[in-house]
Amino acid sequence: MKTSLTVAAVSVVVIGLLGMAPSAQAPPGNRAAELQKWPVHGEARPMPPVVDPGPAGPPAAVPADAVVLFDGRDLSGWTTAKGAPARWLVKDGYMEVVKGAGSIQTVRGFGDCQLHVEWATPSPAVGSGQDRGNSGVFLMNTYEVQVLDSYQSKTYADGMAAALYGHYPPLVNVSRTPGEWQTYDIVFRAPRFDQTGAVMSPARFTVFHNGVLVHDAQELTGPTVHKARPPYKAHADKLPIGLQDHSHPVRFRNIWIREL
Ligand code: MG
Repeated sequence: MKTSLTVAAVSVVVIGLLGMAPSAQAPPGNRAAELQKWPVHGEARPMPPVVDPGPAGPPAAVPADAVVLFDGRDLSGWTTAKGAPARWLVKDGYMEVVKGAGSIQTVRGFGDCQLHVEWATPSPAVGSGQDRGNSGVFLMNTYEVQVLDSYQSKTYADGMAAALYGHYPPLVNVSRTPGEWQTYDIVFRAPRFDQTGAVMSPARFTVFHNGVLVHDAQELTGPTVHKARPPYKAHADKLPIGLQDHSHPVRFRNIWIREL
């Protein structure tokens, strides 16, 4: 009895210490303490449970105070990384990635925000794993919420649809079928840096995929990079929203943002 009490007490202390990394004030639901258990893109990391989010609806209503980033008509608010006009296809109220045209980004920069994005992966589906309906929504052109066809399609957990790429799988897999419209509602808090470039507070994501909570005030340890988790590098307070050209004809519609 005494032994188990001691074990319990030590466990509480150890869990308490683990819980302090990387932020002493990590909010409830934050999974930062478990990140070190999982190598980046590790195949052994468990996949989240599958949950049916219900059918897709029409485009979501746009709040009166939102900045419309794409209303289905043109790409005037978007450029390439080099500032040239965005060359993705615009048709029937959506935009579609044109392979090789490059990733696109908003002309305006944003920091803390509520972002609404609707997207659909190609139907019929082509390829498998990461090579199946891959794109991405980048906050501050730096922190990616993965776009992928994860409907009955496997990949590494931290790279599936709605993953904070390379860091955290979603809490549940609420992917709809290829070609069906899906939604992301993202509440993003930009990282803060002091004058020396040190991190004062990390980037933080709350994400709803198809209306279902998949990240609850989740803090990141740094920017999105393939096969690595590098530390933060100080950057501007506001940077563009990016959409990824990963060579697949993924579609987007009804994109709007509210600054927080
Ligand atoms: Mg991607």
